[in-house]
Amino acid sequence: METIIQASYLIAAALFILGLKQMSSPVTARRGILWAGAGMVLATLVTFMTPEILAGEQVNSNILLIIVAIALGGGYAWYSGKKVAMTDMPQMIAMYNGMGGGAAAAIAAVELLKASTEASNDLSGATTVANVLGTDVAILGILGAIIGTISFSGSIIAWAKLDGRLNRSKLLPKQHLVNAVLAIATVGFAAAIYFSADINTIIIFYALALVLGIFITVPVGGADMPVIISLFNALTGLAVGFEGYVLGNAAMIIAGIVVGSAGSLLTQLMAKAMNRSVANVFFAGVGTGDVVASGDGTEGVMKEIQAQDAGILMSFASQVVIIPGYGMAVAQAQHKIWELTQILTEKGVSVKFAIHPVAGRMPGHMNVLLAEAGVPYDMIYDMDDINADFKNTTVALVIGANDVVNPSAKNDTSSPLYGMPILDAMNADNVIVIKRGRGAGFSGVENPLFFADNTKMLFGDGQKAASALIQAVKELG
Ligand code: NDP
Repeated sequence: METIIQASYLIAAALFILGLKQMSSPVTARRGILWAGAGMVLATLVTFMTPEILAGEQVNSNILLIIVAIALGGGYAWYSGKKVAMTDMPQMIAMYNGMGGGAAAAIAAVELLKASTEASNDLSGATTVANVLGTDVAILGILGAIIGTISFSGSIIAWAKLDGRLNRSKLLPKQHLVNAVLAIATVGFAAAIYFSADINTIIIFYALALVLGIFITVPVGGADMPVIISLFNALTGLAVGFEGYVLGNAAMIIAGIVVGSAGSLLTQLMAKAMNRSVANVFFAGVGTGDVVASGDGTEGVMKEIQAQDAGILMSFASQVVIIPGYGMAVAQAQHKIWELTQILTEKGVSVKFAIHPVAGRMPGHMNVLLAEAGVPYDMIYDMDDINADFKNTTVALVIGANDVVNPSAKNDTSSPLYGMPILDAMNADNVIVIKRGRGAGFSGVENPLFFADNTKMLFGDGQKAASALIQAVKELG
């Protein structure tokens, strides 16, 4: 039986890895999710085959609780996964991520409390948690507890911020000093757990780690949120891996390491896309979401254009580059944009899509929407591949994007966005921006592009504006 169990865990782990591999391309991503999901179902089912459960030992009363928990959690996840709006995806990911960290921390808590009770009762001569669990298990268990707990409370704060339930960003007085003291105290209590058998030490340690997670995340805001979520995702993976070692569960170790390393890579990539270091994201407290009156160019006048004139400009263009952003997701305008693209292409216009790595509200957000609308992958270009091409572009059509085309990221050192690479839409001959009004982007920073000489604003909801453009282009015959 043991061989079947271990073999099943290995198959589950292989399914996780192969699933993740397939998620790296939009063509195979959907299949990847299914494979990883199958791995998770297998790993969960195999857990019910452990010898203790099969023999009906001690755990019988818990089985009902486990099944109820799986039914409640699985049912809620199924329901919320079905109904979540694309634009609310980041907060959902933050929440699920937090649950993973919390689960790892809870496993550690159970093991530490069991060990503490055993050591206090001086059973088998062991007097500390380390004696009972052994050095390696105790250290990894405690590390997983720290990381999982921070990830749990930090992710909940990230969820609350993204869901608009918490003020975007607040830097408390002496925040960094307070955080440093909290971090030292948490590590101190973690060490104390190792050398003691005191339950109160464990409780204080968890309380400190929870507060630390909250305090680390509260000052982070605005444009830095995606990096933080990705980092917590990596940390959750690591915590799960450590607790997998504590439980001797191969699937948990492998899945945890895979999530930990994939999350770390994604964090690095996203930080690079915003030209920030991960440490800077944590400690700078920028991207606050406060509206910033930025320097050059924002004092001018926005020039309006009507759909008919915009349609003429695009119909006679040699190249149109479409830059989708968060507003396209809100307006669900991707289908209309694809329709517009097809009509323009039939007229001989070369149409390309330019995707910024943090456009929208989650990694790959725009790619998913465009794929859903049927846009072929070879029309979609990453920032580094398209930026030089804006010079050869007649019209850059910005739909619901703002921060990712904000030139102050390049030329205004006082801008909170300064240093973030952007799509160089301003280099096109003409820029047409579709947005509803004068609202700022996610970072709250004004955008000088909207006041530039070559920019015209097509005000309106993304979907309605795209429909009007289709109409205008069609009318030209
Ligand atoms: P932004 O959030 O900067 O701007 C979106 C723009 O869309 C707004 O200016 C808004 O203007 C407009 N808009 C909103 N609704 C509509 C609508 N119905 N129709 C037309 N326009 C609309 O988007 P970007 O994609 O440019 O930038 C993404 C930002 O989000 C970056 O700052 C990034 O760091 C951050 N972020 C990214 C994440 C990721 O992983 N991709 C995760 C979390 C945050 P108006 O109100 O005037 O219509």
